[in-house]
Amino acid sequence: MLVVKVGGAEGNGIDNVLLDLAPRRDYVLVHGGSNEVDQLAEALGRPIRWITSPSGVVSRYTDRDTMEVFTMALTGKLNTAIVSRLQSLGAPAVGLSGVDGGLLLGRRKEAVRTVDHGRVLLVKDDHSGTVERVNASLIQLLFDAGYVPVISPPAVTSRGELINADADRVAAQVAVAMKADTLVLLTNVPGLLREPSDPASVIAEVPRAQLSSFMDFAYGRMKKKLIAAGEALEGGVKRVVIASSQQTDPVERALDGMGTVIA
Ligand code: ADP
Repeated sequence: MLVVKVGGAEGNGIDNVLLDLAPRRDYVLVHGGSNEVDQLAEALGRPIRWITSPSGVVSRYTDRDTMEVFTMALTGKLNTAIVSRLQSLGAPAVGLSGVDGGLLLGRRKEAVRTVDHGRVLLVKDDHSGTVERVNASLIQLLFDAGYVPVISPPAVTSRGELINADADRVAAQVAVAMKADTLVLLTNVPGLLREPSDPASVIAEVPRAQLSSFMDFAYGRMKKKLIAAGEALEGGVKRVVIASSQQTDPVERALDGMGTVIA
């Protein structure tokens, strides 16, 4: 069993990933959609804001309005587009948001800390949060019936509130819940780069024990991928590969070890 996550930032080659996955039946696909959310928010005239945690992790500020845009973009548009594309390629894909069947059950953060011009502020109406439980039996049910699941945030709380959960970390949690051997995180760069502006500076291997020291290389949202990788390995996944979605056969290449292998 394999869990593949494809990013939603600009420059991702989602179609490369779908073409590569179409003949397979041994995976769960998880996707984000940050670029779709940005574009839809802009089209609707709803400004996007970002918050930076004191440790330097950047997240989207998701108030009620943004949560609505987030759901429209990820579930309404992107998930449906991915599922219909997979079906056109002969794959029996089923799209699920984290809300369907309580697939991704979590907790909303009561307040998040953000650094603004060097000052730490508390933001209270943010709908971001973390997934605490994955409904693995629902995923298994689909597998057993011959379907391949395509999963995206939002997640949901036990009270039915939607949560903006990070798709990399969702993928890690799905991988743990499904006892996957490998988690592949496909993105718009060739892997974890020693020098973020130099695509040739891919760090080929990160020994699990040294993951925290490699955090220094990751800025912004790359940090979340390393956090996700750590959570996956902690939960029993054997190998995490961060690799490019920009060439053909991205899943095959990642499984062959091209990119950054964390094991
Ligand atoms: P996705 O939507 O594909 O998951 P993200 O924007 O969340 O993409 O994360 C990938 C981005 O992380 C890269 O485009 C790059 O700008 C940024 N980044 C920061 N530090 C690094 C690094 N050391 N190596 C590679 N990418 C990095």
